[in-house]
Amino acid sequence: MAIQSNRLSKEKLLENFSDVHPPFEHAEGAVIESNRCINCFDAPCTKSCPTSIDIPLFIKQIASGNIKGSAKTIFSSNIMGGGCSKVCPVEKLCEGACVYNLLEEEPIHIAKLQRYSTEKAIENKWKLFTRKPSNGKKVAVIGAGPAGLACAHALSLEGVDVTIFEKEAKGGGLMTYGVAAYKVSPEFCEAEVNYITSIGGIDIQYNKALGKDITIAELQKKYDAVFLGIGVGVARELAIPGENLEGVVDAISFIYDLRTNDYSKIAVGDKVAVIGMGMTAIDAATQSKRLGAKEVTMIYRRTENEKPCTEVEYDLAKLDGCSFIWLAAPKEVLGENGKVKQLVCSKMTLGEPDASGRRAPVDTGETFAVDVDMVIKAAGQIPFEELVAKSSIQNKSGKISISPKAETNMKGVFAGGDCVNGGKEVVDAVQAGKDGAKGILQYIGLSK
Ligand code: SF4
Repeated sequence: MAIQSNRLSKEKLLENFSDVHPPFEHAEGAVIESNRCINCFDAPCTKSCPTSIDIPLFIKQIASGNIKGSAKTIFSSNIMGGGCSKVCPVEKLCEGACVYNLLEEEPIHIAKLQRYSTEKAIENKWKLFTRKPSNGKKVAVIGAGPAGLACAHALSLEGVDVTIFEKEAKGGGLMTYGVAAYKVSPEFCEAEVNYITSIGGIDIQYNKALGKDITIAELQKKYDAVFLGIGVGVARELAIPGENLEGVVDAISFIYDLRTNDYSKIAVGDKVAVIGMGMTAIDAATQSKRLGAKEVTMIYRRTENEKPCTEVEYDLAKLDGCSFIWLAAPKEVLGENGKVKQLVCSKMTLGEPDASGRRAPVDTGETFAVDVDMVIKAAGQIPFEELVAKSSIQNKSGKISISPKAETNMKGVFAGGDCVNGGKEVVDAVQAGKDGAKGILQYIGLSK
């Protein structure tokens, strides 16, 4: 057993990482699908979208051939509507709410239709928005992820000059660095960021990290307001013996490496254990398989019924050949010559419901071991507690506290997205960015 890169041919890797949701091949396909929509008056699909996209309207616009209008409808509510069409768990949002489900028929393929018009807009660089002339107000945004970009776009539309400070070399945040490559390509992420900033009035300064290159106090002096969209933070440790052995990695870093390197350079084991059953765990497990790992086993401390990922994601992992061990929690990683050899797990049972409402896993005292050469930890993320603690910003264990107007306890400093909610969907971050912009516009006197 060994961890190694270059397990598959270049062609096979490209095939494995190609788009998992292919677009409509012909315009007719989009028109036929859009004509299935019955334009519900009280559209449940729109109500279940965190950014409230007018879904029946944009679908009707596609049906009538007005693709530009349809893209504008989407982007008016969600400027990252292109990326969201690829990464949103639509089965629990818009498509899950579509009335066709009640008829036990396929819901309208809303995401595919949304992708159809937004991709056309981005590819063709359609100019759908014009910003108001600059009014002299300046806002600093920290983080060029979905929350920061949505906030910056909404502010720029109103004539505010925005400077985004981004710690990475590229924008897009989680979309660019934290999602499986077969869902959204690096090229698309770059094109989406360029499309959003093409409105003008948004300057992104890359490789500028909060707490290292910039501080909130400095920005408060130079700008009329500050928006923090710094994301959720760092991977949660397992806190078990053997965690530092060679071959134990966290899913966030594993996916980050995949997104910033050639697939052939990413090392993966023969036998990989992935700890967790959330979306990041699925992304790590499926991509390990697609890199050429022989066996990938997902280990979860509750049962299949409590898994946090969606059924669609679960199906993807099953189709990729991953296997699952339920009611098991990692107890120790055993090694040989400093390298991972086995993962010892505790057998769990379910007890009384915990704070999440799900029955809590309880250790039975029995253990078992799995032969592995790589362990990927995907047991959640914890907020940037240390970073937040350096400022006098009010927070709960690192999660920034905000008012209903998205303002923190620091004057003129607003926040939104994963750094506030602890990690939700991209579409939630977009809405949080819009909410932040609304609060800032009121604060700087540009709206009531
Ligand atoms: Fe169309 Fe379904 Fe939305 Fe109704 S719920 S408007 S059918 S997409």
